[in-house]
Amino acid sequence: LFLTFEGIDGSGKSTQARILADTLQSDGYDVILTREPGGSPGAEEIRRLVLEGDPDRWSAETEILLFTAARRDHLERTIAPALAAGKVVICDRFADSTRMYQGLSRGDLRRLVDQLHSLMIGREPDLTLLIDMDPETGLSRAKGRQTAEERFEDFGPDLQRRMRAGFIDLAREHADRFRVIDGNRDVEIVAKDVAAIARAALSK
Ligand code: C5P
Repeated sequence: LFLTFEGIDGSGKSTQARILADTLQSDGYDVILTREPGGSPGAEEIRRLVLEGDPDRWSAETEILLFTAARRDHLERTIAPALAAGKVVICDRFADSTRMYQGLSRGDLRRLVDQLHSLMIGREPDLTLLIDMDPETGLSRAKGRQTAEERFEDFGPDLQRRMRAGFIDLAREHADRFRVIDGNRDVEIVAKDVAAIARAALSK
C-alpha cells in the first residue's frame, strides 16, 4: 500500500506519519516512512538545492523540474522497490504538494505540473490522508519551528488560507483516494482516525 500525507505547513502531518508508521509496524506490517522533497540520497540533494539558499535562484519552471526529478529518483530508488517487496510505504508529501505549492503560487503552472507528472511519474498513491487544519493555527505552529537554513514560502495568512482551500478542492477532485481528517484536535485523537482509515485500506 502506498499511502501519503498532505496538508498545509504546521498541520501535523509529519507527526501523524511517524505515529502511523509505528502503529502499523506494531501490527506486524513491514513499513517504510519517507518524505518529499527527498526520500532517496539523490532527491535529498535536490531538496537542499531547492529549499536552502536564495529563494530566487530558480525560476518557477525550473523548480517544478527539480521537484519532478527528485520525485522520479525517490520513486525509482525508494518507493517502487519497497512496494515491489510488499512493504507499506508512508510518504510525508508527494505530487499533491507540488500541485498545491507550485500550482497555486502561479495558476498557469498547474497544467505543467500535471503534464510532467503523467510523463515522468505516472503513479498516484493508493490512499492520501489530508490533515486539514485551521490556517492561522498551522501558521503559528510552523513559524515556531522555522529554521534559518530552510526556505519557507512567504507564508502569509492569505497564502495559507488559499493552500488549505486548494487541498480541499484537490481532495474532492480525487475523492477515490483522498480522505480528509480534522487535524484541529488532540494528536492522539487524530492518530486514532488515521490508524482506523489505514487499517481499513490494508484489510481490503
Ligand atoms: O513538509 P516540509 O515541512 O518538509 O516542507 C518544507 C517546505 O517545502 C514547505 O514549507 C513548502 O514550502 C516546500 N515545498 C514546496 N513544494 C513541494 C513540497 C514542499 O514548495 N512540492
